[in-house]
Amino acid sequence: MAKPASLRIAIVGGGLGGLAAALFLRRAGLEATVYEQSSALRELGAGIVVAPNMVRPLATLGLAARLPEFAVQLEAAWEFRRWQDGRVLSVQPMGEECLRLYGAHCYVAHRADLLALLQSALPSEALKLDRRCIAVRDAGDAVEAVFADRDGRETTVRADAVIGADGIHSVVRPAVAPEIEARFSGLCAFRCLVPAADAPPMALRAVQTLWLGPERHFVHYPISAGRLVNVVAIVPAGDWRTESWTAEGAIGDLRAEFAGWDARVLQLVDAATDTKRWALYDRTPLARWCAGRVGLLGDAAHAMLPFFAQGAAQAIEDAVVLAACLRGVDAQGVPAALARYDAIRRPRASEVQLMSRGREIRNHLPDGPAQVERDRALAGGDPLRQSAWLYGHDVESALRAG
Ligand SMILES: Cc1cc2nc3c(=O)[nH]c(=O)nc-3n(C[C@H](O)[C@H](O)[C@H](O)COP(=O)(O)OP(=O)(O)OC[C@H]3O[C@@H](n4cnc5c(N)ncnc54)[C@H](O)[C@@H]3O)c2cc1C
Repeated sequence: MAKPASLRIAIVGGGLGGLAAALFLRRAGLEATVYEQSSALRELGAGIVVAPNMVRPLATLGLAARLPEFAVQLEAAWEFRRWQDGRVLSVQPMGEECLRLYGAHCYVAHRADLLALLQSALPSEALKLDRRCIAVRDAGDAVEAVFADRDGRETTVRADAVIGADGIHSVVRPAVAPEIEARFSGLCAFRCLVPAADAPPMALRAVQTLWLGPERHFVHYPISAGRLVNVVAIVPAGDWRTESWTAEGAIGDLRAEFAGWDARVLQLVDAATDTKRWALYDRTPLARWCAGRVGLLGDAAHAMLPFFAQGAAQAIEDAVVLAACLRGVDAQGVPAALARYDAIRRPRASEVQLMSRGREIRNHLPDGPAQVERDRALAGGDPLRQSAWLYGHDVESALRAG
């Protein structure tokens, strides 16, 4: 008997989520193709925490062993310091303890390197560049996605399913869920990269460091095998409202936000040559991620505030579950398989979305009794174990239960 044709899955968006989805779907025997609007894959926004719940799926793909080529394995994390003098409030050893608890180390990496790692595992015919999705429409026993290239020429792709992995401003999302309101958090993130040679030695340690001060905090860790230091500073947004990886900020504005802070913070700011500035918006979890043959994944489904550094990790968990739900299904079974994916993944990612809210209040306390109490609690905390719900999440047992 002839083998049934494998399902054709069109993935809109070639970010970390879209590429991971393509890899897991192809591993499950499906014909998955990524359609990306840019003419080359590029990841903006500099550094990313590659948490254990992201490393384990990368290991499944056979890619985790290559992380040490470019990523830095964290020896410690959540090293909280006081803004004025750098006094350490608490620090969490990672290393072997992280491996023992969660079966994987925790890394920090340049996003472009991580994206290149995923791309290296994807056959070139599975990635179509310069394809901007402009419409998705139901075609009864299939679904069609319409793409425009940079000259405005349109092509239509017919598939058994379309997966919107097209990020925070998804064009696929309206085919699934009504547009959700984005609530402005009042904060923005400055992001920059500093050459290791210009950074204070403490910033070159394999440690994720967070300096806490009134109304703002400052995060840094080394990436790119230690050649660069990634800086993220969360501050009041003022009148900044642009939610984009590419929007340029001004170093002078960043410096003014940290006037009077420890000299090592200012040394990092002064060594940066440019900065991106991103207004932080919060979104309520969607009521559904799938409709018929169209599904959402990654930020298109669950854009979240960055306080748990989990957006991409959740996108990769989505990819694992999506592929497991579609494996072995015939074309008629696609809507039910997507509904199962939704039922398994949406509660988990929605929880992370909701937990990411409000963390800035604790991090940004003005100096005073509440801050003293917070610092005391930090000193007695155990963030590695307290993160078991995030890092220890077992996608396989979620699949068995769902
Ligand atoms: C300040 C900050 C820090 C963060 N730190 C971390 C961290 O440390 N760890 C972590 O796990 N997460 C972190 N995140 C979250 C993480 O960046 C996102 O969750 C993740 O990048 C989402 O991946 P994605 O593939 O869903 O979307 P994206 O990375 O946005 O990719 C979407 C892709 O779709 C393409 N696209 C868009 N529209 C179309 C279209 N119409 N047609 C075709 N292609 C299209 C885009 O060009 C892009 O390539 C952070 C976020 C912020 C804001």
